[in-house]
Amino acid sequence: MSKTKSSETVKVVVRCRPMNDKEKASKFEQMVSVNVKLGQIMVRNPREASEHPKVFTFDSVYDCNSKQIDLYDETFRPLVDSVLLGFNGTIFAYGQTGTGKTYTMEGVRNDPERRGVIPNSFEHIFTHISRSQNQQYLVRASYLEIYQEEIRDLLSKDQSHRLELRERPDTGVYVKDLSSFVTKSAREIEHVMNVGNQNRSVGATNMNEHSSRSHAIFVITVECSELGVDGENHIRVGKLNLVDLAGSERQTKTGAQGERLKEATKINLSLSALGNVISALVDGRSSHIPYRDSKLTRLLQDSLGGNARTVMVANIGPASYNVEETLTTLRYANRAK
Ligand code: ADP
Ligand code: MG
Repeated sequence: MSKTKSSETVKVVVRCRPMNDKEKASKFEQMVSVNVKLGQIMVRNPREASEHPKVFTFDSVYDCNSKQIDLYDETFRPLVDSVLLGFNGTIFAYGQTGTGKTYTMEGVRNDPERRGVIPNSFEHIFTHISRSQNQQYLVRASYLEIYQEEIRDLLSKDQSHRLELRERPDTGVYVKDLSSFVTKSAREIEHVMNVGNQNRSVGATNMNEHSSRSHAIFVITVECSELGVDGENHIRVGKLNLVDLAGSERQTKTGAQGERLKEATKINLSLSALGNVISALVDGRSSHIPYRDSKLTRLLQDSLGGNARTVMVANIGPASYNVEETLTTLRYANRAK
């Protein structure tokens, strides 16, 4: 089989959220403009008004009016299709806290128009299965969280337990004792997600703060068995990882000390390790991909690179007070493309 080009296997898109009511009320200036046709994001710098705006080009860009379904159809659907064919795929939401990572991944529950990629992928997968004729499918879901380089099973009864990464020559890296549930419909898998989300908030004194410091990974494994012309059953397995990353804001800027500083370093560690892995994959010339540098990249090793497809959505805010973080996110995303 010929080697797939990295431009097809790794896609980086940028999404800019609308101004929120508070920002409008405070009359913050809009510093970001989006040119959907050219795939460009332009950022003005408030402090250096004389300077030319900074321009970044990506595979696709989405402005504040972008619809969830458009992102799904253009950017996510082809990846989920490849998972249904037995390949692995990973979708990341990256960005500063408050820029729309969770909106992109989960969206607004109970509003079909604003459902994010996770519920849309549930619908997609089970619709595909219901229309298939000669295949038999088994769909399993797991949900885990990485917080300070520790892994927690969000579907386990015991939320105090921490899980270990293990490696086997035949199956590669896996999370020991991670639970997984067989689901037979979009409703069932949605229920699994809800249980995990409830567990996620257990023990978190401040859910916002917790979610901005931890990576949440929803994993869907799709196994398909089909009777071949040779009369044998053929099984193919695809895995879809849906990752709501920790906030990318610099955690150290507030003068964190002690435990806080240690935590901050760990959060930035896995985000920078991820950036290094993706840019090494995109570069294509590196013989060494530094998967082992963080739990996140080790865990996703079999779904990043090789035949796997990756989409990274870099989320940004439009307002002037976010410009520094916005530029940092765009540089990170630019490196990854
Ligand atoms: P994050 O997960 O990155 O911290 P959220 O997804 O929670 O950010 O988004 C912050 C707020 O902005 C939420 O109230 C969310 O509904 C809103 N929001 C984010 N992106 C969009 C968008 N593209 N369109 C409309 N509202 C959005
Ligand atoms: Mg969030």
